[in-house]
Amino acid sequence: MNILVLNCGSSTIKFQVVETDIETIERNDDRKLARGVIERIGGEAILSLNAEGRPAQRTTAQLRDIRSAVGLITRWVCSKESDISQIKTVSDIHAVGHRVVHGGERFTQSAVVNDEILSEIEDCIELAPLHNPANIKGIMAAREIFGAGLPQVAVFDTAFHQTLPEHAYLYALPYQYYRRHKVRRYGFHGTSHRYVAYRYRLLRGIPRDQVNIITIHLGNGCSATAIKGGNSMDTSMGLTPLEGLVMGTRSGDLDPLILEFLATKEGMSLTEVESLLNKQSGLLGISGLTHDMRELLAEAHENNDRRAILAISIFCYRVRKYIGSYLAAMGGADAIVFTGGIGENSAEIRGRICEGLEWMGVRLNPDLNLTLTGGAEGPVNAEDSSVAVYVIPTDEELLIARDTVRCVRGVPHH
Ligand code: ADP
Repeated sequence: MNILVLNCGSSTIKFQVVETDIETIERNDDRKLARGVIERIGGEAILSLNAEGRPAQRTTAQLRDIRSAVGLITRWVCSKESDISQIKTVSDIHAVGHRVVHGGERFTQSAVVNDEILSEIEDCIELAPLHNPANIKGIMAAREIFGAGLPQVAVFDTAFHQTLPEHAYLYALPYQYYRRHKVRRYGFHGTSHRYVAYRYRLLRGIPRDQVNIITIHLGNGCSATAIKGGNSMDTSMGLTPLEGLVMGTRSGDLDPLILEFLATKEGMSLTEVESLLNKQSGLLGISGLTHDMRELLAEAHENNDRRAILAISIFCYRVRKYIGSYLAAMGGADAIVFTGGIGENSAEIRGRICEGLEWMGVRLNPDLNLTLTGGAEGPVNAEDSSVAVYVIPTDEELLIARDTVRCVRGVPHH
């Protein structure tokens, strides 16, 4: 089946076209036919369109909204310009898979979208007012373009974490707020954590219920997950993606009373403080320079910039603290797995995070660590390390495509 994967944000859409099916998944033989990104939707949008084996096309186009962007993607995918031999008309696209950020407590798995499912996704808007509306617009746009008969599947960032036990997902607030408003830890990046856990078990040749690992996703957003017996048992993001690790522009953990303190001292509204924590904090806030880890590392090395060095230290320290706490929570783990743009590419950051963990037997092989970048996959630990350390590139789009096929074909999935 040819699956169009859509990841719709408020002004950005990422997409991929993946050829896959049940037997293809088993053989790990899926094929990426095309991918692309459209940024700055709402005005003069920037397009990057990339068909398999051809150079990326970069152009601009006036795109009013998500509906027109999905329309443009569809036309390009079917066009002579993209020249995808498997896809000549709209009917060659067999299903659409959507990333949906928040599935609340309702969704523990991916689901074929019908009117009932759609209204349940709408019910989750209050939990993710910044994300779910764009995901829903993407679903509506695809329905309009492809017709109601084309299967669409929603794949939730939160679903993998629905196995968290009560003691891990409840905040120590008066219990009635959980009952009344469902205030609890949901966790995000679930598709990424689930994908790398799946790759890990393939690489090690072990069954799902023997996967006891800590997965660390370090991209622009960052999160850590404790996976025991194949299931997520704790994760660092919370009711929203703000909690946990230090991220590109998000603060991660902090004392909640800082909100009121800052609002009073700086004369800001609660909304302004919230935006400060989400958009101006983290690596960007500490360094005062950039949210981008590659640029920060360059500043630290080339200019010895004090605050760039500080931002990197705080970032690594927080990850190390989470690894320690999850090891205690899980009663030990077999491996630590790094993924995401930083986790996949930066030997230095992986090294810095693991530096403080020798006491518990974590030892990297420095040469291996240096070679595993740019999409490479495998272990980076020394032979005598008592905990394995892996680098596994994430592929959320592939998992969305696979879930779409499995949901459409009615095959259960984990
Ligand atoms: P997103 O979370 O938006 O998908 P990515 O997973 O692509 O983002 O991660 C982006 C981050 O990865 C940026 O901070 C970028 O600087 C960082 N990154 C990419 N390559 C490297 C590298 N070679 N060294 C250090 N950081 C890198």
